[in-house]
Amino acid sequence: MPDQIFQSCLRCFMTTQFPGIAIEENGQCSLCNSDTFLQAKKKRVTSNREALEKVAAEVRASRKDDYNCITGGSGGLDSSYVIYVAKAELGLNPLVVHYDHGHFHDHATRNITALCSSLGVDLIYASSAGRYDQKYVRAATRAFKDLGIYWGVCSACHYVIPAMLCWHAQRYGIATTLHSDNVYEAELHVPAAAKFAFMKERLCRIGWPQKARMAGRLALAMYYLLRLKTEFYVPPVRNLLRHRPRKPASLRAVSLSKYLDWDVDYMTKTLVENTPWRPPDYPSLNMRFDCKIEDALVNHTFKEATGQTVHSIIACNLIYDRLRTKEELKPAVDFYESEAADKTREFVGNVE
Ligand SMILES: [Zn+2]
Repeated sequence: MPDQIFQSCLRCFMTTQFPGIAIEENGQCSLCNSDTFLQAKKKRVTSNREALEKVAAEVRASRKDDYNCITGGSGGLDSSYVIYVAKAELGLNPLVVHYDHGHFHDHATRNITALCSSLGVDLIYASSAGRYDQKYVRAATRAFKDLGIYWGVCSACHYVIPAMLCWHAQRYGIATTLHSDNVYEAELHVPAAAKFAFMKERLCRIGWPQKARMAGRLALAMYYLLRLKTEFYVPPVRNLLRHRPRKPASLRAVSLSKYLDWDVDYMTKTLVENTPWRPPDYPSLNMRFDCKIEDALVNHTFKEATGQTVHSIIACNLIYDRLRTKEELKPAVDFYESEAADKTREFVGNVE
């Protein structure tokens, strides 16, 4: 099949390779010409400090002399800002859990350690005793290697991070979890149907012996994932079959981004001015820079399937929000695109 030529948008990084995108008469893509992102953002963000203070007062009153909430910390922007707001601005006493799957960048680990110690917040390093997360990633990476795309390799984290928070909350008698939803990262997911179509097309390219080897390796990956889920068991049993565990009804989940405008520049500035937290020293969007799996396998897979890395999707969302221009974001997008292929080869080589 000859390589298809895709058209690019003048205003953002979208190309017609992304499912459902068309370039319209003014040279801009269908997303640039619509307000879809702004509407999605408006629905989610209702900046309301007063309501947040009220919630914080309830959480403080629920438990006076011990941890009154729990949150996960990766060292990235969102979770670091949640910890900062909880402790420094709302006067809460959070317990922070840093889940270490073994593939974090050193600067992310440095960030979370320095941030928690400067704020006087207790930090627990949690990892799988059987290292089933690393075994899962290794088996899944090897399974998908013949296809050259790696959907599903992040499944371990999608399950373990919420499970680990529930598990530690129960252990320490904590009734509230804190988290955030970053609209710049959440919007523009690739539809499942498009993922399946792409997967099917790639499957047709490989022979039956490779398909059989892939099935065997996938079965092994699923076994490790189940062992991992059992290690951080959150009842009921049905949770073991879910993509993410359902949290117990007694645990209250508070999303700070429901109350605060998730302004990426303001958050970065606040953390840098008040804490030892620092963004990485390469061109960055200050989001999603903590995990090596993401930099390698996830960026590579998105680029192969849609023409965009995760970072260029985030960059597009910043453009749709009229915060930045394509010119301003180009160095960061170029950086992640050029790194993706090399890092993927390196990552896959390391798990062989
Ligand atoms: Zn566009």
